[in-house]
Amino acid sequence: MNFYMPVRLITGENCIRKNAAELRRFGARCLIVTGAHSAQSCGALDDVTAALTEAGVEYTHYSGIAANPTVASCKEAGEQGAAFGAGFVFGIGGGSAQDAAKAVAVFAANPGMDEDGLYSLQWPNAPLPIVLCGTTSGTGSEVTNVSVLTDSKKRKHSIHVPALYADLAFGDPRYTASMNRELTLSTGIDAFAHAAESYFNRKADVLSRTFAAKSIRMLYAPLRKAAAGGALTAQDRLDLYEASIFGGLAISVTGTCFPHNVGYYLTENYGIPHGTACAVFHPAFIAHCREAAPEVMKAFTTDTGLDAAEYTDFVKSCLPELRVTMTEAEIAAALPRWENNGTVKNTPGVITQDFLRKTLEELFIR
Ligand code: NAP
Ligand code: FE
Repeated sequence: MNFYMPVRLITGENCIRKNAAELRRFGARCLIVTGAHSAQSCGALDDVTAALTEAGVEYTHYSGIAANPTVASCKEAGEQGAAFGAGFVFGIGGGSAQDAAKAVAVFAANPGMDEDGLYSLQWPNAPLPIVLCGTTSGTGSEVTNVSVLTDSKKRKHSIHVPALYADLAFGDPRYTASMNRELTLSTGIDAFAHAAESYFNRKADVLSRTFAAKSIRMLYAPLRKAAAGGALTAQDRLDLYEASIFGGLAISVTGTCFPHNVGYYLTENYGIPHGTACAVFHPAFIAHCREAAPEVMKAFTTDTGLDAAEYTDFVKSCLPELRVTMTEAEIAAALPRWENNGTVKNTPGVITQDFLRKTLEELFIR
């Protein structure tokens, strides 16, 4: 084992207001980073501003982070933070606003830096301290050092270095109650994808597998219920949220496998939400893992209660029908991006170009 996860994580009802005093030590001025609406509508923004006020921290607010955040929006927010003299960044939202906040902390500490400077990972100044609050139950970005951003060529890339871990993260599952069924399923199936891709990952160890299996056991019943159109209870929301954190802890050890990287392509080109875009490859993923790593499959079934057939049935029940059509030429043009890709190589066995071509053709050539 080699585990490093330095984030102080505080969860529970009203955890932000209860821990307002924790905020002052990060500085006297704060840049709040959010998407356009959800931070306000789910109640988190009001709690954060009240807590900052109580702690005597002044703030400015940047609300221009879109889903699959662009580097350009992070740079713009960073400049607003630097001009304000922010001592720390507080990101509120799903994975998008939280991932953006990590990059914003880099830009705010390094005014004038451009996209290449960010991706070089050679930053003259360390990022500002980062505080996060999650409002979806999917990415686990609260506890990862990962920031997934869309570059100026509209390609999604992740950066991950220890400096991008948050200093403090909050999780109050009440904020996730405003997610509709569709968003609950697409973010929940992302958490499932993290846990499964971590469990089968070449880098997995006993610790990461413990987190991953725990995540899957907690996700299964509430996601089944959501998929069947049932109303979720506060306990279901809590389970989904905590499961997403266990998924994040698992991938903070291992990273993901091929479905995540191929999923980026679906999001970039067809606007498919992140979790759905990754999970659509999971029936092919589990069929491959069963062949390539039968011993791991056996252990997975023991640890989670799911065999390959139940796994496939579960994933499919959580997925909407995707109206995506590709041509052979389009698939052939996309394939080179996965040659020598580190995430793809983390999958057990060998993921060949031919395997990816067939997987894409079976799903999207109609
Ligand atoms: P998201 O992209 O953050 O949010 C999707 C949509 O949900 C947005 O329109 C957002 O609205 C809305 N929303 C957020 N919280 C809500 C709530 N409580 N109630 C109602 N609506 C809400 O979704 P996500 O799935 O959490 O994050 C996906 C991103 O995270 C992708 O870019 C993905 O690549 C990345 N990711 C990161 C990691 C990591 O380890 N860091 C892991 C996996 C994925 P607003 O725009 O108004 O806020
Ligand atoms: Fe993900």
